[in-house]
Order: sequence, then structure tokens, then C-alpha cells
Amino acid sequence: MRIVIVGGVGGGMSAAARARRLDESAEIIVLDRGEHVSFAGCGLPYHLGGEIEEADDLLVQTPESLRAALDLDVRTGHEVIGLDTAAQTLTVRSAAATETVGYDALVLSPGARAVRPPIPGLDSPRARTLRTVADATALRQRVDDGAGHAVVLGAGFIGLEAAEALARQGLAVTVVELADHVLPPLEREVAALVTAELERLGVTVRTGVAATAVEAGDTDDVVVLADGSRLPADLVVLSVGVRPDTEVFAAAGIETERGAIVVDAHGRTSADGVWAVGDATISTDAVTGARRPVALAGPANRAGRLVADDILRPGSARPVPATVGTAVVRVGELTAATTGANRAALRAGGIAFHTLHLHPSHHAGWFPGAEQIHLVIHFRADDGLLLGAQAVGRAGVDKRIDVLATAIRAGMEVGDLIDLDLAYAPPYGAAKDPVNLAGMAASNVLDGTLRIWHAEELDSLRAQALVLDVRSRAEFATGHVPGSVNVPHTELRGRLAEVRGAAAGRPVRALCGSGVRSHIAHRVLAQAGFDSASLSGGMLTLRAGL
Ligand code: FAD
Repeated sequence: MRIVIVGGVGGGMSAAARARRLDESAEIIVLDRGEHVSFAGCGLPYHLGGEIEEADDLLVQTPESLRAALDLDVRTGHEVIGLDTAAQTLTVRSAAATETVGYDALVLSPGARAVRPPIPGLDSPRARTLRTVADATALRQRVDDGAGHAVVLGAGFIGLEAAEALARQGLAVTVVELADHVLPPLEREVAALVTAELERLGVTVRTGVAATAVEAGDTDDVVVLADGSRLPADLVVLSVGVRPDTEVFAAAGIETERGAIVVDAHGRTSADGVWAVGDATISTDAVTGARRPVALAGPANRAGRLVADDILRPGSARPVPATVGTAVVRVGELTAATTGANRAALRAGGIAFHTLHLHPSHHAGWFPGAEQIHLVIHFRADDGLLLGAQAVGRAGVDKRIDVLATAIRAGMEVGDLIDLDLAYAPPYGAAKDPVNLAGMAASNVLDGTLRIWHAEELDSLRAQALVLDVRSRAEFATGHVPGSVNVPHTELRGRLAEVRGAAAGRPVRALCGSGVRSHIAHRVLAQAGFDSASLSGGMLTLRAGL
């Protein structure tokens, strides 16, 4: 049997390696138009930033090592320019020739291309995407040649990794993002903390504005923004998203949806004998059911392994699962991570949900070095099914998001989070881990023990409710919501008559620093007959979201 794989990096090389492990007799050919296969694309920003000094360290395997270890016939510099699914042949162009290559099974893992918006001047030699080792090397060369100013277009995960890398190298970096906050998949109130960290690193953040032109100069370029700003740039990193790289295969009649290859539960395409995986395929969102391409290494690599199973062990292969969409990024000293659906996706999906904000310590607060995790969870309003989570903090973020990603994959409800036995010793966690706490608080919301209100309701509430700030007097003095009344939570039980008078029949909306003390206050007030609620996430969330 001859298995041909197009694309020898994320999904493609996983398929090739698994196929060999399952079948010593198969002929396995990997075609890639690039210079390298099996390279660590995810490591490119770290080479740019100097943490991975040598570009060669990004080359996980070479055609020679793959031949030796797995007997793979890896052909770099070979671009697939045509596909005939009836004849089961590919047209392949290389520097030497254009040839026809037949297959019994074909795996398409061509990945995605960087989106190039129609901005005049983007073809400047100083503007570059960050997708290949050659891109990283070229950008690094500009840094080594003394570049002083950089503009990164796009504040997604890769854009921010590039921005941090360039700031580490001493450049004055400006990040330009069309959306109103950095890391658009994250909620605004979480992303705000990342913006603050970028600014701490010296990066200038410009959100809610488009780049309209890149003007080439003799010594540097100027990036022009829609508001008229002019940003000097010795280099421009273009990172505004990707789109599936599927034209050749769509032209051959392979079914696509929004440019991505349509696959069934086993990665099979519309053509017999043709499978597809990775960034080039359309995924079904495990939470909302929405269909969209997902450009993440984990799903691509795992799907590659599964389609090899389906090719060589038909009938017994595990299906390729719907995508939960878990992602993490380091920005300076912060980690930001997300799993499952965000607020916008849930609204678009018409799903009724609650959102809860928490700011627990990443390990026991009394143990030295405790850091706050800023955590948001979304859960289904009727039954508490966990739908999504995001977190930002200096420590322990990736662990909590991975636990919550597992919980989403397992179809857990928030009550199940209370029951998770998570590892605890003071340097690592808490007897009530942040994940347990999230489950407890969310269960309180579901059963009505905790009634919450949200920062975005503040403007409309101010006129109709008494905003009761239950922090200490000292905290209140450092800044508070205009018109709010301060009654520290420790005094509340003795001052209920005063609160009743101030409320004058209006609801009471309590707030504190993080939501813990206002929860206590809410319980006191609710049991005293008030129409009360506690601000989700307290002033920390309120300030971040404004
Ligand atoms: P790719 O790995 O992109 O491989 C596609 C290959 O197909 C390419 O080598 C291409 O040359 C080749 N090809 C395409 N068309 C043809 C053709 N017609 N003929 C021959 N060859 C062809 N994901 C994460 O989850 N975490 C991260 O931290 C992360 N960081 C990233 C950082 C950067 C800078 C980049 C660029 C990506 C990052 N990703 C990350 C995304 C991750 O790399 C991709 O999701 C993953 O590589 C997708 O695998 P794939 O097999 O679908 O495509």
C-alpha cells in the first residue's frame, strides 16, 4: 500500500509516523513544498526572541532522520499542484521536475496560510509573516542588523508572542489590533490584564484601529493607521490570522466549507481514499456545535495519528473528536489561557449561560509566593454544564485551564468540579483548589445561594439600586464607584437598618475587592429580606473590564 501525505509538519508527520508504526510494509511518501519538515513552528517566536538561539534547534527531525528511524520517503521542496481523485494521482512540482505520484491513501495536511489584508505597501521587504523557519531567521537578521522599531499587526496569540520576543530584543514595539482588546478570543476583562503586562514590557498597544498603509522609506517603513497615526517600523510582523491552504484540493473537487476541507468523524474527505487533518480542515466546536477551522497544533497532531489508524485499521479507529479549543500563551510574566467557548460564541450559539469571575490564589495564600489567578468560567444556565473558562495570572494558570479543558471534554457540570480530587500541598495548590472553588461558587449561582451581578450592568444599576461597597474604609478611600455607600462586611450585620434606609426600597448591589466579601454580604442581606446581589469578580473585574 502506498500512503502519500501532503504537508510534513503538524498533522502530516503525525500521520506518517503512526502509519509506519502500524505497518512496516507500507510505502509512505511525505511531500512538503517547504525547506523543512517536522519543525517546531510553535517555537518560531522564541527563536525570534533569542530564547532558542539556533534555528537548527527548531528542526525536530530531518528527512534523513525520518528515513533512518521510520523509513519515510520525505521529499521537501515538492509542491502538490494538482490532484485527480478518480485516477488517485497527484501532480507534484519540484526544482527538478513536475511528476505524477499515485496513491492508495492520501492524507492532506497542508495547514494554513497567513491572511494578507489588502493594505497598500504590505509587500515591503520589511514586512513579514512568522510562519516558517526562514521567516524567523529573516526577522532575527533584521534585529541583529540593528532594527529599533517594530510594528506587529494583529494581537492574537502569535502576534503577542512576536511582540514579546521583539521587546526582549530591545526593540520599541507597537502592537496594532482591530478588535477592541488584545487576544480577541479572551474576554475583555481578562485581556485587559495582558494589555497591562505588555505595557509593563514597554510594548505600545493600539486597539480598535486598523492599519491602512505601509509606506516604504529608505531607512525604515511607516505604518499608517486609520486614525492618522504614523508608526516608524524597521520591521513589520504581519499576524492577523490564517486561512486554510486548500485551493489545489478544492479545485480538484474535494468538498470545502468556508475554504476548509470538510471531513467526517474519521477525517475522511468527500473523495474516496483521501483524508484531511489540521488547520486546513473545518472543525465542529465541542461546546457550541459551530463549524470553523481551528489552527492549533494539538488537534492537528492528534488527528494525524487517528487518520493513520483509520487508513490501516478501518473500523476500529477512534473518531477525531470535536474541538474544545484550548490555547495558552506567555506574555512577559503572565500566562493567559482559554478553553471552550467564550461569551461571544455562546451568544452566537443562542446558549443561555452564566458567567462567573474569581480571583483565587494559585496556592495556599499563606504560603510564600502566592499569586492570584484571574479566572472566568461560563456554564449553562439550566444545568450547569461547563462551557468555557479563561484565566490569566503569574502562576498555576495552565494547570487550571487544563483541568477545566478536561472537564469540558468529559461533559462535566460545575457541581462535578467541587468533587475533583486535585493534588494539594502548600507550594502547589490549596485544600480548595481554584477549580474546586469555581465549582462551589457556580453551584451557588445555580441553586440561588449566590446571586450575582456583572460589571457591565453598573451604569444601568446606579440609578435603580444602592451600590453597597463592603470593603474596608481604607480600600474604599483608594477609589470607589461614584454614589456607592461603604459599609465594611464585618460591620454589616450591625448596620442593616442604616442600609435599609439608604436603599429606600431599592435593590442592594454589593461589591468588594474580588467577590468573596460581597458574597458574604449578599448572604447576610438576602437572609434579612433584601433584594441583593454580589458583583462577580468584584472591583478587580470591574476595573479590568472598563
Ligand atoms: P502545518 O504544520 O502548517 O503544515 C503544513 C505543511 O504543508 C507546511 O509545511 C506547508 O509547506 C505544506 N504544504 C501546504 N500546501 C502544500 C502543497 N500544496 N504541497 C506541498 N506541501 C504543502 N499551535 C498551538 O497549539 N500552540 C502554539 O503555541 C502555537 N504556536 C504557533 C506559533 C507560530 C509562529 C505558528 C506559525 C503556528 C503556531 N501554532 C501553535 C499553530 C500550529 O503550528 C498549527 O496549528 C499546526 O502546525 C497545524 O498543523 P498542520 O499539519 O495542519 O499544518
